[in-house]
Amino acid sequence: MAQFTVMTHMHVAGSLHADAISIKPHWLQRPEDINELDSRLWSSNVSRGDDGVLRLAGLRVDDLAETVGTPLYAFDEADFRERARGFLEAFAGWDVFYAGKSFLSTRVAAWIAEVGLGLDVCSGNELVVALRGGMDPSKIGLHGNNKTTEELRLALASGVGRIIVDSLDEIARIEALTEELDVTARVLVRVTTGVEAHTHEYIATAHEDQKFGFSIQGGQALMALVRCQSSPRIELLGVHSHIGSQIFDTGAFEVAARRTMRLIAQFRQATGVDLPELDLGGGFGIAYTSDDTPSTPDELSSSLREIVEHERRAYGLKEPRYSIEPGRAISGPSAMALYTVGTVKVVDLEGGQQRTYVSVDGGMSDNIRPALYAAEYSAVLANRASEAAPMLCRVVGKHCEGGDILVRDVFLPSDLRDGDLIAVPASGAYSRSMASNYNHATKPPVVSVSGGQLTTLLRRETLEDLLALDTGAGVETAGL
Ligand SMILES: *Cc1c(COP(=O)(O)O)cnc(C)c1O
Repeated sequence: MAQFTVMTHMHVAGSLHADAISIKPHWLQRPEDINELDSRLWSSNVSRGDDGVLRLAGLRVDDLAETVGTPLYAFDEADFRERARGFLEAFAGWDVFYAGKSFLSTRVAAWIAEVGLGLDVCSGNELVVALRGGMDPSKIGLHGNNKTTEELRLALASGVGRIIVDSLDEIARIEALTEELDVTARVLVRVTTGVEAHTHEYIATAHEDQKFGFSIQGGQALMALVRCQSSPRIELLGVHSHIGSQIFDTGAFEVAARRTMRLIAQFRQATGVDLPELDLGGGFGIAYTSDDTPSTPDELSSSLREIVEHERRAYGLKEPRYSIEPGRAISGPSAMALYTVGTVKVVDLEGGQQRTYVSVDGGMSDNIRPALYAAEYSAVLANRASEAAPMLCRVVGKHCEGGDILVRDVFLPSDLRDGDLIAVPASGAYSRSMASNYNHATKPPVVSVSGGQLTTLLRRETLEDLLALDTGAGVETAGL
């Protein structure tokens, strides 16, 4: 009987179709052609060949999976470089820092250096990767709300261009180190504007209950600026404001710009000094699903230029050097994740509905974003085309956690079966870089493809890598 039920669910696509419609989120469109790739979601060198197999810069993804194994992350190198260059050109006259925390390896640092952007790091280890990749230290910025003395020493000794200071403790630590190393520290003061922007909404309040920066509202920001200005070995460059991530609405930047300009005007009034730099941070939104409508770098540039110019004039300030810090807008769209389907299971829901769960060989250990902040993704069948009807699916991982979801809602062909490959677009940012070893998962490799040529950026982690950390894993278990 049980077997009969399963068989029915697996093969009667018609009833699946009818049931699935009512649990479909309103924004998700049933695709007219399930094999079509929405060009807004994919990097520029991805296409589906006549044989139905996805190609990345000339390489078949089934060959890629065969060579490297799944799960894997694959960058479209030309696309990455093009996005980086796009920001540099659209924001000509401004400084553009790639936010390395979105994804960083030595080769990625080298791409950034070659295209000519600056690079932001959030830890001493990221700084070492950037330097190993050949980044000019003067074009590196160091972030972090709790930088250790060692991290600050490394930054100052290697000559990083800017340290974005986040606390009075840090300022004191920097002062001591500049004495010790006989150097000058170039700093920006991170301020909180009270603007918090996420996706399509932002909140602008006086309430600033979070760990980053000095509050403008509370007067700490002005105090920190004056503190840095009065320190003989600190060169105060200016103010830094980062208001959030995956932002689509420039209204949030407008409020933040107004509040930072007012702060800069207050500082000038107090000290007579015009601050030479203003950093507006990153957070520019990208398309994870067909529901997202991001701006191009050109559109962003003209909005931001208009906003800062308007606010600057209102306060009668000299024009500072502006900078921005895009992360996901460069690294996100240029990589896909590739998984192998292990199981397809239909689950009965309350009210007689059903949901199809597609389990793949990765999950929250390689992409925590859906579990961490309900991030949405999209996916397609990658190793073949299908004539089958679309079915609403939930793509989940293999971890022992109910929240281990990769793609909450997506239409995939109803003949989907184990062994098929699923590709998830816009997976380059904050996925592999946030990966964990949950369930002793080994972190997936990251490759890049250019002109049909495969380069490994990060190899797959192995069980031996994990056991090497485990001091109790003795010789008698070696070879297992
Ligand atoms: C994370 C971060 C960024 C980049 O954010 P994206 O959403 O990847 O563009 C830029 N600046 C700061 C200070 C950040 O913390």
